[in-house]
Amino acid sequence: MSALLEDSTRRLQDALAGLNADQREAVLHGVDTEAQADPRPLLIVAGAGSGKTSTLAHRVACLVAKGADPQRLLLLTFSRRAAQEMSQRAGHVLAKVLGLGSQTPPSLPWAGTFHGIGARLLRDYAAQIGLSENFTIHDRGDAEDLMGLVRHELGLTGTEKRFPLKSTCLSIYSRVVNTQGSLHEVLAQAFPWCAEWEEPLKRLFGAYVEAKGAQNVLDYDDLLLGWHEMMAEPTLAAQLGGRFDHVLVDEYQDTNRLQAAILQRLKPDGCGLTAVGDDAQSIYSFRGATVRNILDFPAQFGAPARIVTLERNYRSTQPILDVSNTLIAGAGERHAKRLWTDKPSAGRPQLVLVPDEAQQARWVADRVLAHREGGLRLKSQAVLFRTSSHSAALELELARRNIPFVKFGGLKFLEASHVKDLLALLRFAQNPKGRQAGFRVVQLIPGIGPVTATRLLDAMDTASDPGAALQSFAVPSGAREQWVEFAAVYAGLRNGQAAWPADAELALRWYLPHLERLHEDAAVRRADVEQLVRLAAGYASREAFLAELTLDPPDATSDRSGPPLLDEDYLILSTIHSAKGQEWSSVHVLNVVDGCMPSDLATGSAEEIEEERRLLYVAMTRARDHLHLLVPQRFYVTQQSARGDRHLYAGRTRFIPAQDAKAFEEVVWPPPPERPPAVPPPQAAIDLRNRLRAAWR
Ligand code: ATP
Ligand code: MG
Repeated sequence: MSALLEDSTRRLQDALAGLNADQREAVLHGVDTEAQADPRPLLIVAGAGSGKTSTLAHRVACLVAKGADPQRLLLLTFSRRAAQEMSQRAGHVLAKVLGLGSQTPPSLPWAGTFHGIGARLLRDYAAQIGLSENFTIHDRGDAEDLMGLVRHELGLTGTEKRFPLKSTCLSIYSRVVNTQGSLHEVLAQAFPWCAEWEEPLKRLFGAYVEAKGAQNVLDYDDLLLGWHEMMAEPTLAAQLGGRFDHVLVDEYQDTNRLQAAILQRLKPDGCGLTAVGDDAQSIYSFRGATVRNILDFPAQFGAPARIVTLERNYRSTQPILDVSNTLIAGAGERHAKRLWTDKPSAGRPQLVLVPDEAQQARWVADRVLAHREGGLRLKSQAVLFRTSSHSAALELELARRNIPFVKFGGLKFLEASHVKDLLALLRFAQNPKGRQAGFRVVQLIPGIGPVTATRLLDAMDTASDPGAALQSFAVPSGAREQWVEFAAVYAGLRNGQAAWPADAELALRWYLPHLERLHEDAAVRRADVEQLVRLAAGYASREAFLAELTLDPPDATSDRSGPPLLDEDYLILSTIHSAKGQEWSSVHVLNVVDGCMPSDLATGSAEEIEEERRLLYVAMTRARDHLHLLVPQRFYVTQQSARGDRHLYAGRTRFIPAQDAKAFEEVVWPPPPERPPAVPPPQAAIDLRNRLRAAWR
């Protein structure tokens, strides 16, 4: 064996030495050259914190070290953050194994989210599937707007009984696509109150699909659906399947039927396929994910899958694991597993009873600072919540005390109207046929309303050169001066005079005066759009920027004082959904009360309630050393009923019944007022009665 090869074998052995036997088995499955190559697909199914993602990262490194071409490795996961985490970890191990020292680890070109990779493949194969290559991607907000527009055009807004809102229509449409079910079934199961609209909804969805085609746009669901359709064509399926030797999927429990079908068509015999997941952490059924995928995986491919389970948890202390195990033991069908650890305990997890959300915020802020005093950096602490809006009180409290934080989850940054305005301009420049972007941006110009905007877009639609049609378009006299300015900027953006990202700055310069005019709090908003332009500089081209941003919105919403600097310490605030796959030394979970977990809006069916249980499980298993569950006695719920908002006197979540609560340390805050200690009656110095009597003796 050459010295070089010996070195790399030794380094690989070193890297694998830290793994336990089961993890090593999984890493080496089918790649151990000494054993006969094993063609079975591999399923690693294991509980939280058992090293699934680590194992996947080591497997990637091992494959590359044994000669696999990184260009031919496809790594898929659910969210952009998870994808980043996964490729970083794999890169890190790989650098060690390849002996690269402090050099930048080799990047994995095909690591990403299902949607992101889908978009790339659709663009690559556009010509072969009859798609125009310069399609734009609609995010959820854009898709809703288009749905709203089509709904209006079909006259469905003027119906006597209220037709479902555009957001509901899109949710129904999306669920049909992602579950591959029929509209009838989806309505009956998930949207029974809309069942009477089946016919008009069908018409609406047909027209919506037409509108997307006419405008050359795809929405999120199309990215999966398009990939799935592409794979239905045997020649293309073979080409795509042949392009990747290994396909590795993390968080498999959150894939939907389309994603499972894509994998089946990519690797029908299962050879080279690795899936990793935990059925107990499946929390995305509202997007069509189905826990059946992981339960059925073993029998779905040419060869039955090899299953590796991992039971040792490396993340949490035993008391944290105990309460998490108890919580999930109450769930229905699942791969049974009980996690254990030998990590020393740092006390019991706490159940903290506070009077209301304001006091909850105070307690959490106090505790976070106390942990910091005790040596925990803010970054190693997180506060998790069910819904993005639940952190409002805490955000205010943190701002008041100057505790820096970053918030993940929710798409606030991109949902902000000013961010949408600027993006609309860039999108409209990218794709002159994108009516929605155009509709939005030209109406920023005073004197141009929906009628003129529609006239302009129609003119551009029919013109052979849409850019020229815009230049020669006649606007109402009041708008003329500003129009000329806009047309010049548009031409500059279209003909690529300014190279990217100068392009984005040009757009920003045009937009800023409008921002000032339109918003009272322009200063705060300005910081956001400037941030957007800074982000833009990190992308190679406008097209790449727009595609990436729509697919993977930056989920950090800056607080009002602006995003903290990279090397600064800050607390993490996150929805539980966005916290998946991550870990912190200390974790606070807000509002662990009925009405929130399970959510009032999710108590429809037993399955929905089970998903809420898993959500709490995901939250609790993020903690390494300290876990605090907060139980406000009074919890504010926005009821969607005619009664309006109201206060609810909530109780601790039903998922932790009284007898399970005993495993927690109970903290009542503020502590009940103490009674003054009982003072023993003083010893009498004199006996007055006796003295008074004495006078008469
Ligand atoms: P989740 O279900 O939350 O996604 P996971 O199963 O993917 O969790 P990882 O995030 O890979 O778990 O690992 C959890 C923690 O355990 C990480 O800090 C990781 O570095 C550590 N870990 C994993 N395997 C080992 C090991 N063999 N020895 C020591 N630490 C380990
Ligand atoms: Mg993981």
